Amino acid sequence: MQTAIFTTLLVASLLFFGWSVYRRLSLVLLGLPEERFDQPGRRLSEMFLYAFGQLRVIKKPFGLNHFVIFWSFVILAIANGEFLVNGVFPSVSLALLPEGLHRALLIAFDVVSLLTLFAIVLSFVRRIVVRPPQLDSLYVKGRSPEAFAILAFIALLMLAYFGMHGAIIAQGREAAASAMPVSTVVAAWLTHAGVDLTLVERVSWWVHALVLIAFICFLPLSKHMHILTAIPNCYFGALEWPATQPRETFEKGAVYGVGSVERFTWKDLFDSFSCTECGRCQSACPASITGKPLNPRQIVHAIKTNLLENGPALKEGRKGTLPLIGNEGEGTNTEDAIWSCTTCGACMEACPVLIEQMPKIVKMRRHLVETESKFPEELLNLFENMEQRSNPWGIAPGERAKWVSTLPVKPFVAGETEYLLYVGCAGSFDSRAKQVTVALATVLNAAGVSWGILGKDEKCCGDSLRRLGNEYLFDKMAKENAEIFRERGVAKVITLCPHCLTTLKNDYRQYGLELEVVHQSELIADLIKKGRIKLDGSEKSLGKIAYHDPCYLGRHNDIFEAPRTVVQAVTGSAPQEAERHGRNSFCCGAGGGRMWMEEFIGDRVNHTRVDELLAEKPDTVCVACPYCMTMMEDGLKDRGAGEVKVRDVVEVLAEGLLHKKG
Ligand code: SF4
Ligand code: SF4
Ligand code: SF4
Repeated sequence: MQTAIFTTLLVASLLFFGWSVYRRLSLVLLGLPEERFDQPGRRLSEMFLYAFGQLRVIKKPFGLNHFVIFWSFVILAIANGEFLVNGVFPSVSLALLPEGLHRALLIAFDVVSLLTLFAIVLSFVRRIVVRPPQLDSLYVKGRSPEAFAILAFIALLMLAYFGMHGAIIAQGREAAASAMPVSTVVAAWLTHAGVDLTLVERVSWWVHALVLIAFICFLPLSKHMHILTAIPNCYFGALEWPATQPRETFEKGAVYGVGSVERFTWKDLFDSFSCTECGRCQSACPASITGKPLNPRQIVHAIKTNLLENGPALKEGRKGTLPLIGNEGEGTNTEDAIWSCTTCGACMEACPVLIEQMPKIVKMRRHLVETESKFPEELLNLFENMEQRSNPWGIAPGERAKWVSTLPVKPFVAGETEYLLYVGCAGSFDSRAKQVTVALATVLNAAGVSWGILGKDEKCCGDSLRRLGNEYLFDKMAKENAEIFRERGVAKVITLCPHCLTTLKNDYRQYGLELEVVHQSELIADLIKKGRIKLDGSEKSLGKIAYHDPCYLGRHNDIFEAPRTVVQAVTGSAPQEAERHGRNSFCCGAGGGRMWMEEFIGDRVNHTRVDELLAEKPDTVCVACPYCMTMMEDGLKDRGAGEVKVRDVVEVLAEGLLHKKG
């Protein structure tokens, strides 16, 4: 009788499970195509590293708890599989395996079940007592009934496991009892308590069975769907850091970007089902931290909710009714949220299951700018200046080379000049950044580097346009720039700005231009290493130096060491690190085109960053990006700390060389 009831329930639950998984995953196929099937070997190794190795999960102290639960899940899948099969075919069990293997498995199940129980208790304590802020956001609640139900399910499974095996051992029916240390202790308790052992065994068996069946039904309906999708999501993760966006094909009457959920790719949609709702992206995001309406977790959640709501209609060829971009509401992203992103990439760096939040935001920006012509008014000026004068300020191109008046600078000549110094708009026009350009030119001359400039023929690289979603204008400028670079025979480029670096190096590849692009800090570090710049590490005039990692130099292009090497070589000591630094650094607030926008909502990102740096009590803040320079200088002034100097890394070097000369 028990076998018949159990078999019926199990078959029904498996059918329900299959149907629910199909219903959700078939929605993913509504997305646009995207190539994620190449390089299987590399993909497998990433999957093992991030999914099974839980590389990013264990970066946070509490991540160890999830690590235990994840691996218990994997190991106990064997025990639970056996339980289900044995429930249908009572003569089949792991006891049929060779004795040594059977006993090893029993030891593992017993110990792992105890560890899991402990991990679940800690998870309850964390949710009820500790309550870290990243647990909750507007529509995702770490203390939701669903979250507690899942934890309770797992705890019940473990308790039932011990109850069942303890009772069997206490009745003397377990030949391998010595391989079950925890269950043996439970057996002793049960014997001591004088309970009805048959009843305990029967009740525990049914609790175990019903919880497993409930779990099978509930899994694909809940956020715990990630148990099924997170591992493949790591397999399909981006192999290259997505520091760039894909090109668009411009056709008359076409729609651009993503304005409704089916315009995302299948991978974007799959991402949304893989979110574990851990909140790591939220607690790394400068916009979320400073009170903006953007929350990367919310963006991913909105895509999932929108897809679930609109999916059935979309499958039938009708339009969805829940807007993807619109007024505040679950399943909808507000324009304020979309425009708050600095594209710093901190969310992608934090996500344990390799979800790519930032590119989804840029896709929605593209829709707003290119399909709907809807963008913050303050960007109109920027777009016009870029279109008419090829720079954000709208200054006449003839003014570009004005910074050179005091220096012997030559134009770039193919075959004669090694490097093109791509000065960039800030380095050409911004009065503070121009000082950095002069410092760099002086250093390059001193080290005997062969370099030249394009002068008035240089145009903005278009970084802000691309991140702001104005792909049409970016495309036009990128084509023009690529043409000039080709005509002039440019192969090697030095940039002052990480945004120019990433655009010329990563984005222009899509235009067939493969350049060797170095950031000035990399070139200088190399010149120091080769002995072409000599320093004695005695420069002390800048006092204690704290270094701020520019996101587009560090996180987006993996350049962390070069600026630190330069500071170390000049001062004799490594720069002071802010609490968030390197890969986990915090944006200055200017990336993603935010340089050209006011911050009307929440705190200012640069104030928060400056506070983090001031906590290190520096005399100088060292930067390696002209945007960061502006943000740090403004932030320090606003915080009444104007006495703290801000120096680009090349200025730190120039200072060292100057004093060395005496
Ligand atoms: S890219 Fe940066 S600002 Fe944008 S959502 Fe991610 S963490 Fe937030
Ligand atoms: S998107 Fe990634 S980091 Fe953010 S909540 Fe989901 S799983 Fe966590
Ligand atoms: S301005 Fe500096 S910190 Fe801000 S996004 Fe650019 S590189 Fe990052």
